[in-house]
Amino acid sequence: MTAEFIPHPTGAKIIAQTLQLLGVKVIFGLVGIPVVQIAEEAIALGIRFIAFRNEQACSYAATAYGYLTGRPGVCLVVGGPGVLHAMAGVGNSDANAFPMLLLAGSCETHLVGKGAFQEMDAVSLLTPHVKKAVRASVDDISTKIRDSYRSAWYGRPGTGFVDLPADIIQGKPIEDVAEARAVSAAPRAGVDPEKLAQVAALLRTAKAPLVVVGKGAAYAKAENGIRQLIEDTGIPFLPTPMGKGVLPDSHSLNTSSARSAALKGADVVLVLGARLNWILHFGDEAKWSSNVKLIQVDINAEEIGKNNGDADLGIVGDINIVVPQLITALAGFRYDVTSPYMQALQASKAKNEANAAKTAAIIKSPMGYHQVFDIIKRTLDKVSPPEDGNTVYISEGANTMDISRSAFPIEHPRLRMDAGTHATMGVGLGYAIAAHCAYNLLDPEGESGPSVSGNKKIVCLEGDSAFGFSMPEVETMARYNMSPLIFVINNSGIYHGDSEEEDHWLALQSKTSKGESGGLRSTSLGWEVRYEMMAEMCGGKGFFVRTSEELEKATEEGFKADVPVVVNVVIESGSGKKLEFGWQKAGGKK
Ligand code: ADP
Ligand code: MG
Repeated sequence: MTAEFIPHPTGAKIIAQTLQLLGVKVIFGLVGIPVVQIAEEAIALGIRFIAFRNEQACSYAATAYGYLTGRPGVCLVVGGPGVLHAMAGVGNSDANAFPMLLLAGSCETHLVGKGAFQEMDAVSLLTPHVKKAVRASVDDISTKIRDSYRSAWYGRPGTGFVDLPADIIQGKPIEDVAEARAVSAAPRAGVDPEKLAQVAALLRTAKAPLVVVGKGAAYAKAENGIRQLIEDTGIPFLPTPMGKGVLPDSHSLNTSSARSAALKGADVVLVLGARLNWILHFGDEAKWSSNVKLIQVDINAEEIGKNNGDADLGIVGDINIVVPQLITALAGFRYDVTSPYMQALQASKAKNEANAAKTAAIIKSPMGYHQVFDIIKRTLDKVSPPEDGNTVYISEGANTMDISRSAFPIEHPRLRMDAGTHATMGVGLGYAIAAHCAYNLLDPEGESGPSVSGNKKIVCLEGDSAFGFSMPEVETMARYNMSPLIFVINNSGIYHGDSEEEDHWLALQSKTSKGESGGLRSTSLGWEVRYEMMAEMCGGKGFFVRTSEELEKATEEGFKADVPVVVNVVIESGSGKKLEFGWQKAGGKK
């Protein structure tokens, strides 16, 4: 028998070649029929394929990789259930404006509507949530992929989706991939001279100006321009949670530790790559001055004037173009460091920082959140000082994220990721894998842009609930020789978890369910679950930690390890932010 002569490449090969042409270095995926062929062809072309245990974490990773590298992260999944699980990443991409190219298999074209294997109308399902959703056909595979990649990337980033029928993946299309073209970065827009003059005049005469730096500025890699703007003008700045690091947290004009005073006192605010959504309290009076003028600079025109943004002052443009224009327009201007606003900020900073230091110094047994982060930070500072920028922090979980945000200063851009715009718990391990790929797989001057230096340690600060969403990805990390240092801050529950304090609730719960629930609260998780075994089961290292000495030792050893490490830190159960329940508000609180 002679082998069949194949004059043209299969669809799978064309897909892989198209991705290569687009400059794709890594695919985040979970294979099955029929997409496994695409993954194999991609691997054969030298593209890295990171095989996940669940499409949810996998799609989160692709979006985070998009954010870190500034180009769409690629996610490859099967049809039907694969797409449903990857919806999580689609929502994440949409909410955070992270670029992703999602490729999914689907049933054979001629079987549509017959109840075929994993059949689902993915294009209709995804259309409202993506920038482009298309189904490839035999003669337009590379065009559709290229176009979806471009759509995901240009303008405000989001998802481009291509549905790939099995007969097209496995078939022998006639199209020649050599005709496909790479996609260059989007053209960048600037501001018109009149608007520029108006905004500059307003900033020059402001009594209390402020620059807000968002994750759009981090994504845009606009750190050099923004730093010059701040240093030339002396205007104080406030980073959003993921805008941290665009300017060093240690910068004297950083108002993070005087956040409330900075927001409430500002009269003219330049918002660089941040939406006026819940993270910035909608620009509303509750947290901002009622007379504040909010000048938004955004790549997306529809964002301008939203909520309390000043539509007449907004600038549609790329931060990388607009900020240098502003620097020129503000030449010679220097904000008065002795202004009442600056004095109020200084006073607020001093007070808040002293309080934070006092809280961190409280020694308890079992340990509390502040104490834990203080020990981790001091131990890591010895081996990886923040100014070196060699550590990436990924943080999620209600209290774990909120409390750790101020405990770990970030000195360089894109070194901190968290639950983001959707407050999505479960992104952490996918993000850690993405950070490893962006920083440690690619050459430092490559996709992730000028890197501070060589390899980076990925440190995850996970609540026990947040960790639970994607626990199996520790195995993915081990399989690809990644060596993240994962702390599980274990209070045996969601938010404040379980606590004896609210036995009123326990009584209520066991009464209504006749004791069948065992009196568990909805926020309860397993008591002192041995999460560190997730690392041990696949060749990693686990540490079970109760005391500050044990935590220090585990942090030191964990940092040095070249395998995934899970440090299970048992803290005081019932610690952290309390939820207010109806019965408590009604006076049932003891
Ligand atoms: P944060 O969570 O930090 O507040 P958001 O995600 O809400 O930030 O906002 C980021 C904003 O940045 C988005 O509105 C997005 O359109 C915008 N953006 C992204 N890239 C650029 C760019 N290059 N220039 C200007 N704006 C940008
Ligand atoms: Mg918890």
